[in-house]
Amino acid sequence: MQPLDIGVMLGVGENPRESLKKVRDLGVPTAQMGCPPQKYLAGEGRAELKRMIDESVVEITTVFCGFSGESYADIPTVRRTVGLVPKNTRAERVEKTKAIVDFANDIDVANVAAHIGFIYDDPADPDYPELVKVVQGICDYCAKNGQNFCLETGQEKAEVLLRFINHVNRPNLKVNFDPANMILYGSGEPIAALKLLGGYVAGVHCKDGTWPTEENLLGHEEPLGKGQVGIDRFIATLKEIGYEGPLTIEREIGGEQQVADIKAAIELLDSLKGK
Ligand code: MG
Repeated sequence: MQPLDIGVMLGVGENPRESLKKVRDLGVPTAQMGCPPQKYLAGEGRAELKRMIDESVVEITTVFCGFSGESYADIPTVRRTVGLVPKNTRAERVEKTKAIVDFANDIDVANVAAHIGFIYDDPADPDYPELVKVVQGICDYCAKNGQNFCLETGQEKAEVLLRFINHVNRPNLKVNFDPANMILYGSGEPIAALKLLGGYVAGVHCKDGTWPTEENLLGHEEPLGKGQVGIDRFIATLKEIGYEGPLTIEREIGGEQQVADIKAAIELLDSLKGK
């Protein structure tokens, strides 16, 4: 992979060969992989998916965790259902995370990423030390294979995320920086956040969006360059901080419009990369 190679967020779905072909057809060399269906995480299914990835010659740069029961419908629902913060599902999701780490290792991918949920604003929350311990455990599990665990940005302010990273205190705890999420969740201006978290950024999502206009609702995702991130400043800042990972386009809609928006995003990023 070359620094700032373009990629896309790949949903594996029920037909991985077809999904990988879509990435190839877009002409991009890299992809981040959404959480594969359970049947591909171990055993023969894992070997089969590994073969398909090898044949596709798409370089997978990150595998994302996903958990059953998660919903991004609105902010209170995200708070209740997403990631490792909700206590009632934590133990099973830690086990699933480890299975994804093993899967990623088997397909030679060094980064595993997740939305872990809204990290507590207040480190005095009684559950805060336990959450720190859980993420330390996952980082240590990743470390034995030389892998990183990456926290997707957006659900909390960058200052809260940075404090949490410092408390976890593991060298392989990194950030997958999604500038649109900072806006969609109303968590703070993304360029300032990127500068603050710069040293920890191991992956990015090139995604755009507009600020929320109603309490408890997320803002609106938009095609790259059409929202309020300021993609030109985003790319310029990535260069400033010395980021050399891939530029992974994430467009969270489906169908033909998604393909059209991704193609436009590739063109936009190609033009900004050279500046
Ligand atoms: Mg994202």
